[in-house]
Amino acid sequence: MAINILIVDDSSVMRAMILKTMRMSGLPIGETYQAANGQEGLDALEQHWIDLAIVDINMPVMNGEEMIDRMQENPDTKDIPIVVISTEGSETRIERLQGKGASFIQKPFTPEIIRDTIMAITGIGESDE
Ligand SMILES: [Mg+2]
Repeated sequence: MAINILIVDDSSVMRAMILKTMRMSGLPIGETYQAANGQEGLDALEQHWIDLAIVDINMPVMNGEEMIDRMQENPDTKDIPIVVISTEGSETRIERLQGKGASFIQKPFTPEIIRDTIMAITGIGESDE
C-alpha cells in the first residue's frame, strides 16, 4: 500500500529535499502534494486523500503549530499522522507538539530517520523487514 503525502514547508528547496529523502528511504510513496504554509496545507487536505502530513513550524500566513491545531479540531483530519520537520530547538515547543500527537524530526535529517519515524507511526513497511 502506497501512502499519499503532503509536504508543508515555506522553502521549496526544503520541500524538494524532504521529497527526495523520502523517495530514497524506500517507503512506498503514492501521490505527493506540496504546500508553502499552513493555510495551503489545510486547503490541500480538503482537496486530496492524504495519509501523512510532513509539516514545518516556521512559515508565513499560518505556521505549522496552528495548522496542527486546526487539523485536530476537524474530524476529517484529526487522525492523519503528522511529522514535524524543523530546526526548532525549544524543548518546550517540541514537547507541546508531541503532546498534540505529532512526531518530531530535527533538521538536518537522514533518509533512515525519516523512514524509521514514518514506519513507526504508520506501520507501513514493517512486514518487509
Ligand atoms: Mg520554514
